[in-house]
Amino acid sequence: MRAAILEEYEEPLSIEEVEPYDPGPDEAIARVDACGVCRSDWHGWVGNWEWFDYKPPRGHILGHEPAGTIVAVGEDVETVREGDQVAIPFNFACGHCHECRNGYENLCENHLGLGFQEGAPGAFAEQVPIPNADINAVKLPDGVDSEDVAGLGCRFMTAYRGMAHKGQVGRGEDVVIYGLGGIGLSAVHIADALGANVIGVDIMEEKREMAEDLGAATTVDAEAVDDPVDEIHDVTDGGADVSLDALGIEETCRNAVESLGTRGTHVQIGLTTKEQEGYNPLPTDAIVMNEIEVKGSSGLPPAKYGELFDMVRIGKLDPAAVVSKKIDLEQVNDELQAMTDYQTIGLPMITDFS
Ligand SMILES: [Zn+2]
Ligand SMILES: [Zn+2]
Repeated sequence: MRAAILEEYEEPLSIEEVEPYDPGPDEAIARVDACGVCRSDWHGWVGNWEWFDYKPPRGHILGHEPAGTIVAVGEDVETVREGDQVAIPFNFACGHCHECRNGYENLCENHLGLGFQEGAPGAFAEQVPIPNADINAVKLPDGVDSEDVAGLGCRFMTAYRGMAHKGQVGRGEDVVIYGLGGIGLSAVHIADALGANVIGVDIMEEKREMAEDLGAATTVDAEAVDDPVDEIHDVTDGGADVSLDALGIEETCRNAVESLGTRGTHVQIGLTTKEQEGYNPLPTDAIVMNEIEVKGSSGLPPAKYGELFDMVRIGKLDPAAVVSKKIDLEQVNDELQAMTDYQTIGLPMITDFS
């Protein structure tokens, strides 16, 4: 099978022919029907994230946003079978640790990062192995298409948890989203579907336009205004109810928190880069004086996917709307390169692995 392998950080991935997989007893093997290319892949590609053990080793297959069709299952697998279409979360859970037993598989103590960590070869390939398949292969219901849901296992479900569960976004609330990449745009679409007035902030016009197409009531060009925080306070008449930093750099993180009104909720999804190495300063006094809540959001427990599938099936959410172009496996290198300059619009998706 063909796979895109990380030979050296920041060098083009090497497209090679490698051995296909045989499933272990609790594993399933999926044919990758589609796989999104995400900023997290870029972080892995440039060698970020050593500080939380997500720096992929040389020789690793990258790619963590697949949707696929099961082609083989191990003898102990019970919930999926050959031919089933599945969504695949980017963080595989063990199923037996404290967090898993309490329904927080997204926070599994023994999690394996698909396409990042040893033991979880990624999905920029014709096939991907799914460990503990009874937990980690999430069968798609009828009426939900596999190509529509590549990326669902990463940015879309992450944005969903951030907006629906952590931000608890409700009808009529003002929600500001900093950074209109894949996560940010997904969050715009989801917050709009939940009934919020969404304001998107980004310096790139194409990204702001896409946000408006996906349901943002208005957008702000952070470079064209004196201060985006003042702008948000004006637009919302006193500050947003919920803010999201989808980027993880110092400026967006601080601005997002400062854009909130009293009793606002900040949701952090963007992870930091080499410059911050895990730490961003926050406006501490404002958090205290305004009783701001700051919440982290990571992944989505597989049992909650049903909420998302329901919204997709009835047409309230359309994950495919975030897909900006379909590419073949070789073109992943152009996309990774483009991300260095934040030039990628929406979600590029690999649909041709041959
Ligand atoms: Zn991703
Ligand atoms: Zn676990």
